[in-house]
Amino acid sequence: MSTEPKNKPLTLALSKGRIFEETLPLLAEAGVHVTENPETSRKLILPTSSPDLRLIIVRASDVPTYVQYGAADLGIAGKDVLDEHVADHPGGLYQPIDLNIARCRLCVAVPKGFDYQDAVQQGSRLRVATKYVQAAREHFAEKGVHVDLIKLYGSMELAPLVGLADAIVDLVSSGGTLKANNLEAVEEITQISSRLIVNKAALKTRGERLQPLIDAFARAAAQRD
Ligand code: ATP
Ligand code: MG
Repeated sequence: MSTEPKNKPLTLALSKGRIFEETLPLLAEAGVHVTENPETSRKLILPTSSPDLRLIIVRASDVPTYVQYGAADLGIAGKDVLDEHVADHPGGLYQPIDLNIARCRLCVAVPKGFDYQDAVQQGSRLRVATKYVQAAREHFAEKGVHVDLIKLYGSMELAPLVGLADAIVDLVSSGGTLKANNLEAVEEITQISSRLIVNKAALKTRGERLQPLIDAFARAAAQRD
């Protein structure tokens, strides 16, 4: 990092897929256009129409790490990812804006026909598979439900179908994936959307360049509501 010139462009970290797609219109509102498509380009650093802004494409759960360490000045990440990151790295990131994009819900889901409420009332110990261990632990502790959490990195829907878990904690938007796997959401833990995050040191040292971009994101996000 120290080898990079001080006047290098501002760097925005984001993941491809829905966050990238839904960020494009916000950038356009700020007058910034992106010509390369990360789905087809193999480039991990994408230029923009602004010489002072470049994008880096990383995994959704790696976005907070790039921003925390200052490899990116700013980033866009889901509240799901941020909550898990912040539990391990408290206080590292400035989170100025809820961009209201990539909205979904973090839910408990079970196979159709499994009586979740009854299991909870009986005080049964539940096996729950999830990528969102922190959020799940907090949720079930608050409810006083005894759980064994099994950490997975993806395709949580599979776990109850093959006997790995009784329930899952996963993101739901349309519910289509749950339905296709004969599962149903039985409890909403929290609403999720993506947030702008900013490296705290960068805000001090490069604030004059960063603040207009942060303001433009804030205006664009407000217009969407
Ligand atoms: P990876 O596939 O790299 O492990 P991921 O599966 O978490 O990461 P995505 O599926 O692209 O990556 O999700 C990125 C972010 O988009 C999530 O962190 C979440 O905030 C949001 N998201 C995930 N699923 C949905 C959904 N069904 N609807 C709306 N937003 C979603
Ligand atoms: Mg994915």
